[in-house]
Amino acid sequence: MPARIVISADGHEVFESWRQAFATVAPDLPVCSWVDPMWQLQPDDYALVWKPEPEHVECLAHMKGIICTGAGVDHLLSLPGFPQNVPLVRMGGEQTARLMADYVLWAVISLLRGARTWALQQQHAIWRNNVCSRTSDTTRVGVMGLGHLGAFVAQDLARFGFCVSGWKRLPSGVEGVTVWSGREKLPGFLAEVDILVNLLPATPATEGLIDSDFFQHLTKGAGFVNVGRGRHVVQKDLLKALDDGTLCGAVLDVVTPEPLPAESALWQHPRVILTPHVASEASREMQARYAADMVACLERGGRPALLCDVMHGY
Ligand code: NDP
Repeated sequence: MPARIVISADGHEVFESWRQAFATVAPDLPVCSWVDPMWQLQPDDYALVWKPEPEHVECLAHMKGIICTGAGVDHLLSLPGFPQNVPLVRMGGEQTARLMADYVLWAVISLLRGARTWALQQQHAIWRNNVCSRTSDTTRVGVMGLGHLGAFVAQDLARFGFCVSGWKRLPSGVEGVTVWSGREKLPGFLAEVDILVNLLPATPATEGLIDSDFFQHLTKGAGFVNVGRGRHVVQKDLLKALDDGTLCGAVLDVVTPEPLPAESALWQHPRVILTPHVASEASREMQARYAADMVACLERGGRPALLCDVMHGY
């Protein structure tokens, strides 16, 4: 029986958009909807999921592989009964990395030039000539997490002239980037950063990592960009760091919880730019092409580059 993709989509419209995308990029790959009443598990089924329904989780154990439509898989690994021994592949592809690099460049330059202040001035019709003379080539950007996205982002920032360093778990290098690795090197890495970008995955080892103690290691008045996960940050410590000038500002694409409640102090904070978890999501066609490639790779007995290591949680 040929391999087939079983799509766990939120509603008929979403399923249709996936079906059409697969029909365009991989017309020979059969697809079906998990909520189709006629659907029955076949031996060569692969699941395509973001947040599967609880009643589908048990069935995932009988799939040949699981492809997550997001790059972060923390929400899947924490589901009760989520299978640990079925290959789980994270979303990737060049468009995902390009989108993330574009977002981070915008965020870093927004912090560098004080874009939030200009937006507030405009809102109140204030013409104040607050010129900034900091340039990219004298700004040190540190990227936490140098994986599929982080390495691309770091190298892109370096190409734009920023002085880029990065922090990761294992001591392997990334061309053009000064790499620090391991928990004991974290304070040294942070001490040499003017703008920090978080692109770590949410795992038991990284959750709550960014707290008051963490911020104290940064250069006074550093900027902070969070595109990793809201759970990395202790929110009350972030607010304190913004209020007391430890941080000059923050660009947050991810927060806890999402959506952010209307009463959160982050919404109106004069030093915060908020975006609704939109930094990087590739087009449906690109995602379908990537998923089809991953199915083909697993069918050949290959090892996808973004195969999740369940033990480390990413
Ligand atoms: P990868 O798994 O490819 O890379 C993860 C990186 O984090 C690796 O460099 C890894 O180190 C490092 N890392 C993991 N654990 C630790 C640790 N305990 N200490 C230090 N470094 C650690 O992930 P991606 O680059 O694909 O994605 C990163 C995250 O970005 C996702 O998990 C997701 O949360 C977020 N994301 C956000 C999006 C948005 O729109 N805001 C969109 C897509 C993703 P090493 O290389 O040594 O293994």
